[in-house]
Amino acid sequence: MMKSITQQKSTDEIVRILGSSHKVALVGCGTCPTMAGTGGVNEVSDMASRLAEKGFKPVSDTVIPVACEPLPAEGRREFAQLVQDVEAVLVLACSLGVRMVSDYTDLPVLPALNTLFIGREAEPGFFEEECAQCGDCVLGDYGGICPIVQCAKSLFNGPCGGSVEGKCEVEASLPCGWQLIFDRLKKLGRLDELSEVRPYKDWSKSVSGGARRMRIPVPPPPVPSEGKE
Ligand code: SF4
Ligand code: SF4
Repeated sequence: MMKSITQQKSTDEIVRILGSSHKVALVGCGTCPTMAGTGGVNEVSDMASRLAEKGFKPVSDTVIPVACEPLPAEGRREFAQLVQDVEAVLVLACSLGVRMVSDYTDLPVLPALNTLFIGREAEPGFFEEECAQCGDCVLGDYGGICPIVQCAKSLFNGPCGGSVEGKCEVEASLPCGWQLIFDRLKKLGRLDELSEVRPYKDWSKSVSGGARRMRIPVPPPPVPSEGKE
């Protein structure tokens, strides 16, 4: 299962970004952050206690089932009531959830989590990065293994030469990404492709050019058939 992987910010940082906003509404997410143990019911309640100890007044706490999806009209009305007497909203969700909640209020909406990566749950409660959303996927050139994520130096043209027994020289607990690429291409009978020198990656398709945008064709609404109510 792939998820948006998050990590809680330190209490000190949250206190800093809350600043003088003492009356706070806490909002968690019932999906990825619940699974990651960063923004579910227990973590929201724990965060409320920690902020209270620091002199803040957590006025309400709630967990939206899927924070990155728009709330229906009724949910928005409930949300408006929830935040009517606060100075800021602290969101324990990934950046997508924070952005969505920002649409519901003119109050400051602040992130309590850092959004790290798209990850796979390799075993219960343990996530491994799979994609850094670079905007120009090269998996097709490397046997389905991402050199940006799996190689600590994001090398595109072969290993750095520092790996030991298939492990990365930067982090010995991790497999060398280039060993993975080599093994995979060998299995696929495509090792000859490694002799090709790959061009520099076009990072302009990544996050350096401002917010990326894409329009997806929307199918037309169904035409109601005659004679049916
Ligand atoms: S090449 Fe880019 S888009 Fe493809 S898996 Fe790696 S980081 Fe993700
Ligand atoms: S040891 Fe392997 S994974 Fe680590 S930086 Fe070098 S090539 Fe990349």
